[in-house]
Amino acid sequence: MRILVTGGAGFIGSNLVETLLKDERVHIVRVLDNLSTGTMKNLEDFFSDERFEWMEGDIRDFETCLKACGGMDAISHQAALGSVPRSIADPLTTNAVNITGTLNMFTAAKTTGIKRIVYAASSSTYGDHPALPKKEENIGKPLSPYAVTKYVNELYAGVYASLYDLELIGLRYFNIFGPRQNPQGPYAAVIPLFVKALLEQKAPVINGDGKHSRDFTYVANAVNANICALFTEKKEAINQVYNIACGEQTSLLTLFELLKTEAGLDITPDFGVTRKGDVLHSLADISKAKSLLGYTPSVSVREGLVRTFEWYKSSVEA
Ligand code: NAD
Repeated sequence: MRILVTGGAGFIGSNLVETLLKDERVHIVRVLDNLSTGTMKNLEDFFSDERFEWMEGDIRDFETCLKACGGMDAISHQAALGSVPRSIADPLTTNAVNITGTLNMFTAAKTTGIKRIVYAASSSTYGDHPALPKKEENIGKPLSPYAVTKYVNELYAGVYASLYDLELIGLRYFNIFGPRQNPQGPYAAVIPLFVKALLEQKAPVINGDGKHSRDFTYVANAVNANICALFTEKKEAINQVYNIACGEQTSLLTLFELLKTEAGLDITPDFGVTRKGDVLHSLADISKAKSLLGYTPSVSVREGLVRTFEWYKSSVEA
């Protein structure tokens, strides 16, 4: 299998590339990325592997997408502009990258004869639907431009699957964390921000009262879901969207306590204002991914936090 990973210089993408290069079924891993939020550092370990190919380019450009698809058998489409606050600050760019860029990738796949496309969807698609745990079929109204873009991706996937006989599989990630997630900048995610603060022996800021919760999911689990989706031969598993999570609910306060213990520090967090566009609670029902895709979250939240903390600690020391 020759696999194109878009967004492969980013957090989830680079972890996926690392695992794909260890898989004997994989002959080529090509990364397409414009390095807007990803980095060459995330890819530096892969250049020594002759099965690795690097292509710098933007998914907003259709010709680039066509070129990237040439000679490939399947795509894992991870490239997007993440972050709810970024999408509120700049909805036009988020729309162009996440909707036009994704449509370009789906269309380039169709044009070049690639059938299987696994794409990064998002738990933000549940929007204001109050039910917990979240089941794939019950979604509410989106609460941010980012959530709109991720839902539109799913709508296009459904239409392209039925019109053009493509095999599209959407993975609705729930708060993925782990090595290589960027702790820098205004749109950094909560776990890298907390770890960075603790490593600097500073109090992190919790937006709101800290009682809101997430289904935090270690990146190896998201990678595992991609592998299951790229290789599944089960007909009923194709043209579906799946929750990809741990199925565990952790409040921000508990998350902070766990990381604080890992850091061996006695620090009290600062509390800030609740962020616009964020949902209060999130917890996934992962039974669909388990039964149809064969997905299991093999790394628990606690174990993932230990590994993540160690990774940031050793990269600061290096
Ligand atoms: P990331 O920012 O680390 O990775 C995204 C990658 O896409 C980066 O390397 C970036 O340079 C690249 N990219 C952005 N715009 C591009 C463009 N126009 N052309 C080519 N490349 C471009 O983010 P991540 O956390 O690894 O997210 C990967 C995917 O998973 C995204 O689609 C994101 O929306 C989705 N997702 C992530 C989470 C999470 O918790 N991390 C949750 C839900 C969904």
